[in-house]
Formats: sequence, C-alpha cells, structure tokens
Amino acid sequence: MSDILVYIEHDADGITDLSLQCLGKALELAACHDASVGALVIGDRADTVAADVVSRGAAVAYTVSDPALAAYLPKPYATAAAAVLEQHPAKLVLLPASTVGNDLAPVLAGRLDAAAILDCCDVTCDGQTATFKRLEFDAKAYTLYQSSAALTLATCKDGIAEVPAAGTAGETVSVTVTIGDADTSTTIDRREVARKTVNLKDARIIIGGGAGVGNAANFAILEKLAEKLNAEIGATRAAVDAGWVSHERQIGQTGVTVRPDLYIAAGISGAVQHVVGIRDAKQIIAINNDPTAPIFKMAHYKLVGDLNEVVPKLVDILS
Ligand code: FAD
Repeated sequence: MSDILVYIEHDADGITDLSLQCLGKALELAACHDASVGALVIGDRADTVAADVVSRGAAVAYTVSDPALAAYLPKPYATAAAAVLEQHPAKLVLLPASTVGNDLAPVLAGRLDAAAILDCCDVTCDGQTATFKRLEFDAKAYTLYQSSAALTLATCKDGIAEVPAAGTAGETVSVTVTIGDADTSTTIDRREVARKTVNLKDARIIIGGGAGVGNAANFAILEKLAEKLNAEIGATRAAVDAGWVSHERQIGQTGVTVRPDLYIAAGISGAVQHVVGIRDAKQIIAINNDPTAPIFKMAHYKLVGDLNEVVPKLVDILS
C-alpha cells in the first residue's frame, strides 16, 4: 500500500515532465504526512518506465503491461488503474493535468466512488489534511478544496513541483489485470436528432413575435403573413419563455443573430437583449400599440396599432 500514488504518463520519449513533477509533489506531501509514495505505470513498456520512477523516490512502482494498453484509452486504463488501487489502496492519487490525466481521473473516480479535483495549481498539507488549489476566472481568483473522501484523485498543472533527481532504489511490482473485450470496445447508442427545420440565419424575411402576440395560438396570425412573404417566424425570449414557440426561434443575446433583408417586429418592445440580434437587418418594420415603444427608435417603418388588426390587414393587402 502507498498513501500517495502517482500516475505516470509516458510516451515514446519517456516519462512526461509533468508526471515527474507530480512525483515531486507526492514526495513533498509524503514528507509532511509521513506517508509513502508509490507510482502507477500502465502501458506496453511499463516495466522499462518503472525503473526510472523508482530511481526518483517512489518506494514502489506498480506496473500493468498488456498489448491492449499500448495506447491510452479511458476504459482499459481505468480498469487497470482500478485493479491496482483495489489490490494496493491509496488515499490520494496525483495525475498530470494533461489530456490523458484529466480524462482518466474522472473515469477512475466514477469507478471507485472517489473524489476528483482537476487542474490543481498547488496541493499543500497541514497535518493530515491536504488542500487543493485551483485557479478560476482566468486566474483572477482561486478556490481551495479539501476532500473527505476515502480516495481523492487530483490532477496537477505544470509548475506543481520540481522534478525529483534520480538516485534512489525502490521495487517494481507487476500487477496482472485482465483487459477484456468490454474494456476495448465501445457501444455508441445512436440518437436520432430531429432535422432542424428552422433556418433563421439564412432567412431573407423574418417576422418576430413578442409578448404582445398574447398567446401561442395567436402566432397563427403571424404565420399567415409569413406564408405570404415566404418568411420565417422568429421570437423574443418572452415569447419563448412563455412556451409559445420553440427556443430555436429565439433572436437576440441568448438566441440567434440574424441579418435578413426585412425584419417585422410584432408586439416586441425592443429590449436591448433582443435588438442586438436584429441590428444588421436591412429594413425593420415595427408593429406596436405603444407609440413610445423603444423598438420604434430603430425601426425604418412604424405601424402603431394592435397587431391583431394590423397583421390581418397586411395579409389582405398581399392576397
Ligand atoms: P415585452 O417587453 O413585454 O414587450 C411586449 C411589447 O408588445 C410591448 O412593447 C407592448 O406595447 C407590445 N404589445 C402588447 N400588446 C400588443 C398588441 N396587441 N399589438 C401590438 N403590440 C402589443 N430577449 C430576447 O428577445 N432575446 C434574447 O436573446 C434575450 N436574452 C436575454 C438575456 C438576458 C441575460 C436577459 C436578462 C434578458 C434577455 N432577454 C432576451 C429578455 C429581454 O430583456 C426582454 O425581456 C424581452 O426581449 C422582451 O420581449 P418582448 O419584447 O416580447 O416583451
């Protein structure tokens, strides 16, 4: 058993520098906790790599060698790592915060019901408690984590510690793990995605409906006009949130941005979050029963009136 286990990532050029930094951090923490440090080496050349690891301070290197582990895949690597941890339990596993480490840690944590903390820029210890530091918000803030889980996995970012020098002697323990077909095959459950029928981005004419439309059924008024003009129906968030139209029709800050030749805004007040999505429309006609509605400030044509009367009249004119 090792209190701290370090996952050693390696490739054709040898052990990655970040894996050795993780080993350096593990040795630092072990000195504080009076704990032991082991290494976990998985791959088809695990034994060769292990010799280097134990020369750099790991008391033991657990190796899992199998042709099926020649290249990293999450399932077989998690199976191998879980088998080692079941036979040789640890309290903390440090992994490099690389593509592989950040992929493996959560998969392994899921398998072992462990905690996973990714992208730590530091791990410190105070008595028996380890504290994990992560930078947040583009490094403008940081979060400190402590784990009460029996097993915690933490991935560490570059700069976590110095690479330990060679010069010690530890033992290598080969662990036999059966990698079965279930580990090397993946079943992809095909999900049929409904064909997207709304194409607001390419529409030349869009009729946008807002809260002023009043209800879902009333959108039929706008659809009649859309048929005449070969237009698409768009909407404000208010109409979408009310469940009158689907979200794919939402225009604005949290919807799509459109550039039609003509945008007809019906029952839309002209909130900034909506108009950011239509400001590149070449022509805007606004229909609103409130003459002071902000949408009129940007509209090229203003129709002040009840859309329930104005829109059917437009349909009549076009018929
Ligand atoms: P209202 O502001 O309620 O306006 C309804 C208008 O209809 C009024 O001007 C009224 O005079 C008129 N009217 C009422 N009855 C009639 C009638 N019979 N005939 C004619 N006119 C009538 N909104 C978006 O649209 N898209 C976004 O992507 C979006 N993103 C957002 C993101 C955030 C973070 C936040 C906070 C808000 C976002 N919003 C978005 C919401 C936005 O702030 C507005 O609340 C919303 O755009 C208002 O929609 P509306 O114009 O349909 O409704």
